[in-house]
Amino acid sequence: MAASVWGRILGGLRLRSGQVIPRRGVVIGPQFEARHALVDGLGVSIAEHPLGIGHQVAVDATGRTTAAGVWVAGNTADLTAGVMQAAASGVTAAAAINADLTAEDTTAAVAAWRARLGIKV
Ligand SMILES: Cc1cc2nc3c(=O)[nH]c(=O)nc-3n(C[C@H](O)[C@H](O)[C@H](O)COP(=O)(O)OP(=O)(O)OC[C@H]3O[C@@H](n4cnc5c(N)ncnc54)[C@H](O)[C@@H]3O)c2cc1C
Repeated sequence: MAASVWGRILGGLRLRSGQVIPRRGVVIGPQFEARHALVDGLGVSIAEHPLGIGHQVAVDATGRTTAAGVWVAGNTADLTAGVMQAAASGVTAAAAINADLTAEDTTAAVAAWRARLGIKV
């Protein structure tokens, strides 16, 4: 399908068959694609936006992706996020990353002490 334009005036829509359907205006629903090339090699999953308006990196509520240790924020995680939501999601992801690192350190420390004391679980 293509627009049939006379000068600067829309005349209609030209179908592949060549038939022109006269129209004075056309409303187009755009599609959006998050720029996720940077994290593609890390094994993240891409998901369709719930509204069907495009694709973004699949995340949980904290921005955690399906790849271990990888979080994303902003429009990469939500195509519809404005500046405030994008910034807030960055804060949420940062807190979740900090919690994840703390949990990892704690697990390692507990395992080291158990090994030192000969405790088996
Ligand atoms: C035309 C327009 C008008 C808007 N108006 C408003 C508004 O009035 N109010 C509002 O709240 N929001 C508005 N927004 C939305 C707002 O721009 C976004 O919410 C916000 O920029 C998202 O921030 P972000 O950090 O997720 O992404 P971005 O601001 O897009 O930052 C991503 C950055 O990553 C860089 N990048 C991408 N891929 C790579 C890569 N592979 N390697 C290195 N760098 C990379 C990009 O170049 C960019 O600098 C508007 C957006 C558009 C397009």
